[in-house]
Amino acid sequence: MFRLSQYMQQLKTPTPVRVRRGSGGVKPVVIWNMTRRCNLKCRHCYTTSADVQFPGELSHDQAMGVLDDLNDFKIPALILSGGEPLSRFDFFDLAKRARELDFRYLALSTNGTKLTGDAVAKVADLNFDYVGISIDGVKDFNDWFRGQEGAYDEALHGIRECKKRGIKVGLRFTITEDSAHMLDDMLDLCDAEGVDKFYLSHLVYAGRGDKHRGDDTEHKRTRKAMDTLIQRGWDAIQNDKPLELVTGNNDADAVYFLKWVQENFSAEQAAQVQSHLEAWGGNSSGLGVANIDPLGRVHPDTYWSDYTIGNVKSTPFTQLWTGDDPMLATLRQRPRPLKGRCGECTFKDVCGGNTRIRALQVTGDPWAEDPACYMSNQEVGIDEHVGDGVVVTPFRGKRHDPKHQFL
Ligand code: SF4
Repeated sequence: MFRLSQYMQQLKTPTPVRVRRGSGGVKPVVIWNMTRRCNLKCRHCYTTSADVQFPGELSHDQAMGVLDDLNDFKIPALILSGGEPLSRFDFFDLAKRARELDFRYLALSTNGTKLTGDAVAKVADLNFDYVGISIDGVKDFNDWFRGQEGAYDEALHGIRECKKRGIKVGLRFTITEDSAHMLDDMLDLCDAEGVDKFYLSHLVYAGRGDKHRGDDTEHKRTRKAMDTLIQRGWDAIQNDKPLELVTGNNDADAVYFLKWVQENFSAEQAAQVQSHLEAWGGNSSGLGVANIDPLGRVHPDTYWSDYTIGNVKSTPFTQLWTGDDPMLATLRQRPRPLKGRCGECTFKDVCGGNTRIRALQVTGDPWAEDPACYMSNQEVGIDEHVGDGVVVTPFRGKRHDPKHQFL
């Protein structure tokens, strides 16, 4: 996740750089997909969720064991996600236990439609540090995108119920070619509703997101969206407005932002921002981020469902994460063994090579260039002989895609 507002703040109030990545010992933020069940059917859903009970999900006791293990590991943050986490039969028991265990940061990622009545009161009582609610466009578009009429109104109601109870709430918006023009509307909605954080997510080619990868935003449209976000973010910083802006799933956003800083501020300020961005290091799959899926399988992040490190049903997460898995070891290398444009890029210390799953889906190679990078070769110091990059072809069925060669 790229914290745009936080790095922008460096232009106003510079702070010393804290190096986060050492030779080891980085504890991950764990995103736990507690269930695959969900009452919506979103076009970008990486878990391909549906409103049915999927077999093999963790039992109550197994899930309680996961919480104990994660707490002992002293992870910096636990994000309860799904499917729709509130669809899990024992969600509130697990959330209560997580609160009792005193995780440093406990967040909920939800479609918002179930945040009514007793449920939202319980969420408030549990004192979640943050609740992220997804809205993917204005009214009917959101309902079409998320597969249920009325989902927009219900999610907005959920946001209002959270705000009423003093819960820090974020709006999550996935940008596609069809929804890009609604970005300003989404930001206006945040301002009008007093939303604390806006999360712009880029499309990842996983689950239904892969089936709809042909809907991904054209590079010129992504750049325009980033211009909007940077402008709105800078306006908020200058006027001490509280809305925090972050982006996810395209770490080239940090490079694009750095270019904006270089063009509009002093060399000294640009160097300060670049040092902070390099200390962050871009994509953090397998290092600062981990995923446990509904079946208990551990992955380098939420989109890596095709690569499993092990299963918490038989081995504790801590043991899997600190073991000798070769893909985790390679993801933790800096620089990563990137190829193509990413391998040649002079900003890979900032970006970390972006979202490897997009490279994998389109080429079969997890170290190929990320096709969603919208920086030009010239902007990131890539020799022209490398070419313009991998082209994203619309999904025509798995058998038409290259076979995945992880290692
Ligand atoms: S070329 Fe690759 S490493 Fe460089 S900014 Fe783009 S995605 Fe990041």
